Amino acid sequence: MFALDDARFQRTAAELNLPAYRLAQIRQWIYGRFTGDFYEMSNLSLALRETLAGKYRVTNSQVVAVRTGTGSVKLLVQYPDGAKIETVIMLYRDWSSACLSTQVGCAMGCTFCATGPMGLERNLTAEEMAEQLWHCCHYAKVNSLQPVRNIVLMGIGEPLANYRNVVEFIYRANDPQLFDIGQRRITLSTAGLISQIQELAGLKLAITLAVSLHAPNDKLRNQLMPISRKYPLQDIIAACRKYTEVTGRRVTYEYLLLAGINDQDSHGAELARLLKGENCLINLIPFNQVSGVSFRPSSRAAVFQKQLEQAGLNATIRRSLGQEIDAACGQLRKGLPEQ
Ligand code: SF4
Repeated sequence: MFALDDARFQRTAAELNLPAYRLAQIRQWIYGRFTGDFYEMSNLSLALRETLAGKYRVTNSQVVAVRTGTGSVKLLVQYPDGAKIETVIMLYRDWSSACLSTQVGCAMGCTFCATGPMGLERNLTAEEMAEQLWHCCHYAKVNSLQPVRNIVLMGIGEPLANYRNVVEFIYRANDPQLFDIGQRRITLSTAGLISQIQELAGLKLAITLAVSLHAPNDKLRNQLMPISRKYPLQDIIAACRKYTEVTGRRVTYEYLLLAGINDQDSHGAELARLLKGENCLINLIPFNQVSGVSFRPSSRAAVFQKQLEQAGLNATIRRSLGQEIDAACGQLRKGLPEQ
């Protein structure tokens, strides 16, 4: 991308011999107005616009397909090497939220997820993630949607398996000169990679850490999330407790409700025992049907929530956006299905 980091921006300015105020103008077009066309930068001279357009592109990736639903918009983003990922804009009353992918494919193999069987192709760089965010901001602007104010790293991939790039991306998203998205408005969702959770704690970011539990015991969790064989629940919860101690941020535990699999009273009671006394929020997620996956959505969300609350835990039910365009949790793939 033309101007995602300050060093590149400065280099470009030096190359073109641009004064600081010109740089600020270009930055304002790209990050304030999310303009992707240098010719629209009307306070620059035509000669400079021509030079910029001849030498650079605002993004290296392109949005090659769009699907719109009532509460969300899914963008298919293609990178110069041909890799494609999906990114979703979720629409709320006062803002939009960007659900971004962190890898092309995923190695975690969760059995309820559309991406699981595809395997991992490669990591995305910080710049590639920033381009996804820029495309979301640009789309929202051009289509008069609410501006993107939140980021959830819950698209394709396991963010903590791409730790360095994801952390670098978070700093860029938070940079007031770039996207200026507050750390508290960024959520990172992980299957529970313990050493990376410990490393992340040391950065003392104000982001929200969301850990996918999806089961109240290791036996069931191992069936749903093969990666969990490496990370026992008790160890994950201990790492999260430490994370909260170090950062002062409460951890969210995500729990996908699968009919007859993990949504019974006995599971609720076991989950309550597991998380007793933890300073956490449990986010109950309605399951979205995925083709080729035999799990079914649960109708017990409200009962399950009540059971947890009666045990003294905080539990919410996530509003599910984007089901009709396969853009909801666990439904993203590396390519948009044909419309
Ligand atoms: S749910 Fe997330 S971690 Fe699991 S396979 Fe899908 S993308 Fe990977």
